[in-house]
Amino acid sequence: MAANAPVPVLLVDDLSANLLALEGLLQRDDLVLLKAQSGEEALELLLQNDVALALLDVQMPGMDGFELAEIMRGSERTRHVPIIFVTAGSSDSQRQFRGYEAGAVDFIAKPIEPHVLRSKANVFIDLYCQRRQIAAQRDELAVSAAALREADRAKDQFLAVLAHELRNPVAALMSGLDLLNRQRAPEQAEMIRGQMERMLFHLARLVEDLLDVSRISEGKVSLKTGRFALKDVLLSAVEGSRHNIDAAGHGLTMEMPEAPVWLEADYTRLAQVVANLLNNAAKYTPAGGEIRLFASADEAGVEIRVSDNGVGIPADMQARIFEIFTQVENHRAHAQGGLGIGLALVRRLVLLHGGSISVASEGQGKGSTFTVRLPIIHGQVEEIGPVPPVPKG
Ligand code: ADP
Repeated sequence: MAANAPVPVLLVDDLSANLLALEGLLQRDDLVLLKAQSGEEALELLLQNDVALALLDVQMPGMDGFELAEIMRGSERTRHVPIIFVTAGSSDSQRQFRGYEAGAVDFIAKPIEPHVLRSKANVFIDLYCQRRQIAAQRDELAVSAAALREADRAKDQFLAVLAHELRNPVAALMSGLDLLNRQRAPEQAEMIRGQMERMLFHLARLVEDLLDVSRISEGKVSLKTGRFALKDVLLSAVEGSRHNIDAAGHGLTMEMPEAPVWLEADYTRLAQVVANLLNNAAKYTPAGGEIRLFASADEAGVEIRVSDNGVGIPADMQARIFEIFTQVENHRAHAQGGLGIGLALVRRLVLLHGGSISVASEGQGKGSTFTVRLPIIHGQVEEIGPVPPVPKG
C-alpha cells in the first residue's frame, strides 16, 4: 500500500448516533473512518482493511466489545490491531481487567473528551504511519537489492565473456608472432601480418569501447558539437560499416529526406551511433539479408531507423537491450566478439544529443528496427563544421 494513502480506523458502536459523534470528533482528510454497528459487521470490515486502530463500544447487543476483541486477538490478521474500548461512564476495575485481558490497549469513558480521544487515537495513527513507511522502505530496498544482484550477475558474466574475448586475439597474436619469427617467405609473412593487424584492431576496438563506457558513465564525455547535414553523418556511418555489410552479403537500402536537414551534433559520435546500429544489423542477420537505413524529418525532429530482417529480439529482452553487458542468450553465436556494450554506448550518446532511442521486433527470426530520434536545427544553416573522418567498424 502507498505510504501516504489514507489511514483506516475502525469505529464500532451499535448506536448510529454514537458512531456519528465519534466520526465527527475524529474526521480528518488523511483518515478513512470505517463504521460498524455490530461485531459481525466489524469483522467483515477487518477482513478487507488493515486498520490502524479499532475503537470498540463495550456494550452491544449480540457480540459485545470484549467478545469482538477476543476474536480479533485470535486471528493472525487482526492480532496486533490496537483496541481502545469506549465504556459507558466510570468502568469498575473488574470490567477493565477483562478488557485488558481481551486485548485492550486503552479505555475512554463516555461522555468523551474530544482532545483525549484525539490524542490517544493520534498515538496509534502515527505508529501505523511509521510502520507503513518502514514497510514501503523495506520493499524499496528489496527491489534495489534484486537490481544489484542482477547487475552483479551481469558483471560476472561480462568478465567471463571479456576474458574469453581477450584470450582469442591475444592467442592469435602470439601464434602469429611465433610464425613470423620462423617464416622467411615474404608473401606468407605478409598474410600473417595482415591477420595480426586485424586481431590487433579488434583488441584496440574492444579496449576503446570499454574506455568509452566508463568515460560516459562518469560523465567525462563531452560532445564536440557543430552544425552538420544529416545526410553527411549517415553516409559516413554507412562508409564505416560498409565492410561488415558487404562481407555478409547483405543488401543495403537507404532513404533520406529530399530537403537538407541540419543537426547540432558531434559528427563523429553520431556517425558512431548509426554505424553501430548498422554493424549490429549486419551481425544479427543471416548472410544475404536486407538492411534498411531510413531517415525522415518533421517539425519535431529527425527520425533515423535502422532495420534488418535478421534474428530479431524477443519481447522480454527489448526493454533491457540498451543496458550494459546485456546480450540475448542465444545470440552469442552472432556476436562476433561483441561484449554487450555497443547499444549501451549508443543510448548514452543519443541521450547526450538530447534524443531518444527505441527498438521494435516482432520476435525471434522477425528482424529488428532501431529508431533514433534527434532534435534538428530549424531554418537555414549557412556554416557547417569540418567533416571529420569516421573510423571503420
Ligand atoms: P554486442 O556486442 O553483443 O553486439 P550490443 O550492445 O551492440 O552488444 O547489443 C546487445 C545485444 O542486443 C546483442 O548481444 C544482441 O543480442 C542484441 N542485438 C543488437 N542488435 C540487434 C539486431 N539488429 N538484431 C537482433 N539482436 C540485436
